[in-house]
Amino acid sequence: MPVLARPDSNEYCPLPPRRALVAADTDVLVVGGGPAGLGAAIGAADAGARVVLAERHGFLGGNATAALVMPLMSFHTQMRAPERQGAATLLPTDHGPGEAVIAGVLARLLERLVQAGGAIPPSLETGYVVPFDPEWFKLIALDLLDEAGVHYLLHAFASGVIRDGSVRGVVFETKSGPIFIRASVTVDCTGDGDIAAQAGAPFDIGRSDGLVQPMTLMFRIVDFERTLFKNYVREHPAQWRGVHGLWDLARRATEAGELDLPREDILFFATPHENEISVNSTRVTRVLGTDVWDLTYAERASRCQMRQIAAFLRKYVPGFERAYVAQSGVNIGVRETRRIHGDYHLTADDVLAARKFDDAIARGSYPVDIHNPKGSGTILERLPPGEAYDIPLRCLLPQQTEGLLVAGRSISGTHEAHSSYRVMPIAMATGHAAGVCAAIAAQRGISPRQTPVRDVQAELVRQGASLGKH
Ligand SMILES: Cc1cc2nc3c(=O)[nH]c(=O)nc-3n(C[C@H](O)[C@H](O)[C@H](O)COP(=O)(O)OP(=O)(O)OC[C@H]3O[C@@H](n4cnc5c(N)ncnc54)[C@H](O)[C@@H]3O)c2cc1C
Repeated sequence: MPVLARPDSNEYCPLPPRRALVAADTDVLVVGGGPAGLGAAIGAADAGARVVLAERHGFLGGNATAALVMPLMSFHTQMRAPERQGAATLLPTDHGPGEAVIAGVLARLLERLVQAGGAIPPSLETGYVVPFDPEWFKLIALDLLDEAGVHYLLHAFASGVIRDGSVRGVVFETKSGPIFIRASVTVDCTGDGDIAAQAGAPFDIGRSDGLVQPMTLMFRIVDFERTLFKNYVREHPAQWRGVHGLWDLARRATEAGELDLPREDILFFATPHENEISVNSTRVTRVLGTDVWDLTYAERASRCQMRQIAAFLRKYVPGFERAYVAQSGVNIGVRETRRIHGDYHLTADDVLAARKFDDAIARGSYPVDIHNPKGSGTILERLPPGEAYDIPLRCLLPQQTEGLLVAGRSISGTHEAHSSYRVMPIAMATGHAAGVCAAIAAQRGISPRQTPVRDVQAELVRQGASLGKH
């Protein structure tokens, strides 16, 4: 592949000094408009703060829209272990409903998506995931920000941090040149911990060998005949084994040299549209989402896989004879990059033991879900039925850094714990909490670390968040 290779030299070109236009002075600056950023901006504005949200893309939603990660994973406790999760959105499942453990901004977003016909509410039939339409997601995210009074700037890539003892604001690269947004408190919702890293906060990447979960280019296939497909699967139940669909057809295609994927199954989800599916089956391993050379390679490699998968579905799978790829992600989906070192490091044991914390500001019930960083295979370990784990405020407070909170998938935790709290409902819940904490801190002129957690919890509950028994 003729992608530009990583240079072997360490030669640097010095840059001329420059200045940035001061574009705003605000209480709370939220960087990144994905699920966490939306939760943070709306939570902070509802707590009475002046809020600016800045996003590098021309639309909001983060992975939900840019990477076409179209179902929200379940945010309900589980009653029984599902036997067929991959098929869950297309076929009846054994996944029993439990309690919803996330509400607040997520509940508001969901209500509006469902009202618009842009999402299917969680139910037994959907396997408690929420299939949604990314175009509705983009529109409703804008509506919610407008209603909350959040000022937003799109096409603004955060490239630097201004700090003294504390983070004072962020520099953005824009078509209008560099701009600076000054803020009392900044919330890093970049998913990659870009702001925390620039501010000098310590972080980890990957597991002990440095490898991270693989990247996946997601895509939408249309002109799919759902009934034909469902009938086929009912008549051939052996096609679905284990957690995801383990396809004999995929194996046949692989043996015929028509599929060459570093995963064992073809995973896809229903969408709110009868004749459409969202495919989550490309896999690029040993690449890092904070490395431009890796990202370039991964975009190319995943598109080659997408072509193979689409051809496979058309040739081998009933219901897909006329189906075609209507859209792929604006960018490849990145599951895992930096995880900051916060005042607490959440572990897999905390997740699987459904541990509770006094300073809980969000909850999660999603399993430990690790796509093998080296190739095929996915580890899925569930919480006990009916249980949820707490996420402490301390996980959002980067060590050695003031004036900054981190929310979403880059909060403080292990590689294994991250595989659970990375999903969008939980990212939105930690964002909501970070926004509320940032607003209180900014209004009182204190740092997020000094903000009494009881006040954060009380404001979250006032805004409809679900914190269990706190
Ligand atoms: C392939 C794949 C499949 C997944 N499947 C599911 C699923 O089915 N259901 C589910 O719930 N979750 C799923 N996840 C996980 C989930 O999508 C993410 O972990 C979640 O979106 C994290 O939310 P976030 O807000 O922290 O980050 P993101 O969604 O990544 O949002 C970060 C935002 O910040 C912006 N940004 C980044 N850097 C900068 C910068 N320097 N300057 C300005 N803006 C910046 C980005 O453009 C983006 O809008 C999946 C993830 C992947 C990659």
